Amino acid sequence: MSSSTVVTNIATLVTNDPSLGDGSPLGLIQDAAVVVDGDRVVWTGEAGRAPAADHRVDAAGRAVLPGFVDSHSHLVFAGDRTQEFNARMSGRSYSAGGIRTTVAATRAATDAELEANLTRYLAEALRQGTTTFETKSGYGLTVEDESRALRIAARHTDEVTYLGAHIVSPDHADDPAAYVALVTGEMLDACAPHARWIDVFCEKGAFDGDQARAILTAGKAKGLHPRIHANQLSYGPGVQLAVELDAASADHCTHLTDADVDALAQGDTVATLLPGAEFSTRAEWPDARRLLDAGVTVALSTDCNPGSSFTSSVPFCVALAVRDMGMTPDEAVWSATAGGAAALRRTDVGRLTPGARADLTLLDAPSHVHLAYRPGVPLVAGVWRGGERVV
Ligand SMILES: [Zn+2]
Repeated sequence: MSSSTVVTNIATLVTNDPSLGDGSPLGLIQDAAVVVDGDRVVWTGEAGRAPAADHRVDAAGRAVLPGFVDSHSHLVFAGDRTQEFNARMSGRSYSAGGIRTTVAATRAATDAELEANLTRYLAEALRQGTTTFETKSGYGLTVEDESRALRIAARHTDEVTYLGAHIVSPDHADDPAAYVALVTGEMLDACAPHARWIDVFCEKGAFDGDQARAILTAGKAKGLHPRIHANQLSYGPGVQLAVELDAASADHCTHLTDADVDALAQGDTVATLLPGAEFSTRAEWPDARRLLDAGVTVALSTDCNPGSSFTSSVPFCVALAVRDMGMTPDEAVWSATAGGAAALRRTDVGRLTPGARADLTLLDAPSHVHLAYRPGVPLVAGVWRGGERVV
């Protein structure tokens, strides 16, 4: 039998339901309460009207928001790229080839080593308020190594993405077409049972538009849904391909033409921005303001990976998005919760309304604005996932 808990005395509650509270997209309620029963939210509203519950948690005048939904990470890997980062920060530019370093280390690791590494970064993310995360393969690039990465990831999340097309495998450097055939053939057959999504790094030095189309189309035929690394380092066909194929998300979106922005505004593809990557590579910021003003749905995620964005902190990405990408604090918090859920085509997370999964993040601050106002400060004071307190 489940028991109910009321979390009350919440100074600011982010519900992400515009029909509640102040009527903004965040659906902010002041002096609020949330009632949780089992793993679900059953009631949200003003504290004075909360129904009775078996247990009571006093938020003591602090803010509560939905657990962050980190819809883009690469956490099945081994090794470290400290030297590459250090070199880059000393003046060399980033190229996609650095991934090969992690591929070699990942292939050499045991299953137990990969899982221990994954578990460590998941715990780190959870302490920072992330209750739902997506993660990808992409550091194996063989049938065996890609499928084992997905098997390991699937033990920890439902949001598993097959990214055999991260770069052309070093084993096929002289014959990219043969590698695309492998990714869309034997490797796809081995990986599809363990994944929900298929992804491709559509970029100069990785896969071009025709290759990306072939890879995503093959994945769709096997029941995987597309998402895509698009327009990160340069202009290219990725974003419009994403919309054409009804990808759930086009990720990065740093170099966009007006036609790219129009396509996103008219389609159902979320633009997922990953400011940790621009921060860690000293690259040009994506223009979130331009996307939002065009009516595009924007998500914010970490892109946590050992090469180009080694942060698991959604609050850090919120602060960057506000400081450098033209987002308001409200928009950034929405994008890191409801936006991430949209990028995973989920409606059960990223909001705190009846029926939603009871994923709550309690801040040691009176409002969600403090996530941007107090950058770098560990403000997460409590986390519930599926109704269970985990931090
Ligand atoms: Zn990525």
